Amino acid sequence: MRTAFHRVIAIDGPAASGKSSVARELARRLGFIYVNSGAIYRAITRYVLQHGVDPDDGVRVAQTVESADISCGLENNESRILIDDVDPTDHLREDRVNEAVSRVSSVPQVRQILVAKMRSYACNHDLVMEGRDIGSVVFPHTPYKFYIDASPAVRLRRRAAQGQRDEIAARDRADSSRRASPLIIAEDAHVIDSSNLTIEGVVAEILNRLKLKGLK
Ligand code: C5P
Repeated sequence: MRTAFHRVIAIDGPAASGKSSVARELARRLGFIYVNSGAIYRAITRYVLQHGVDPDDGVRVAQTVESADISCGLENNESRILIDDVDPTDHLREDRVNEAVSRVSSVPQVRQILVAKMRSYACNHDLVMEGRDIGSVVFPHTPYKFYIDASPAVRLRRRAAQGQRDEIAARDRADSSRRASPLIIAEDAHVIDSSNLTIEGVVAEILNRLKLKGLK
């Protein structure tokens, strides 16, 4: 794989670990582009559901995604995805998307298509990208890898506070046990337990670490 020309900070972790808030703030502080890869998997999941495809039917899921016109752009320094010219942003947290996203994301052809789109962001921009396999698969050569965790109780509380019905334990199980690019801690990732930290505390720890690693 070609090494990305631009710098990539990879932030992985389980559901509701706080990585989105951290990644967005970190990107803002560094002047990097923020890419939420979970939102990209959610967008494609909604598209699959809109087309009446059973998320467990991997063959039809793959065919549907292969025929979709997926455009990954930017808005206000953040990733923004359009599928067949439709912006699904307002629908990404629907219950049915929460429920189906891990199954759609486990289809290898889906990952292959979306990983190529994600990598293309690094051709023109410095990135903070968050997800499940950013340090292990999408940008394995980046020296800047973080894994953010939090206790199950804290993560459940965070999701509930957002007013969402989201079976995070089931998603974590599915995401960690799938064959294609499971959620793992990359060997060279710096692990942060955010259970007792504020967003600012986690961002400060990452900025410190990046400084030690010589990120200018
Ligand atoms: O980050 P978020 O919880 O929004 O991600 C939604 C889902 O998208 C995850 O549960 C996982 O199934 C999938 N995902 C993935 N790989 C990524 C990011 C998200 O499989 N890099």
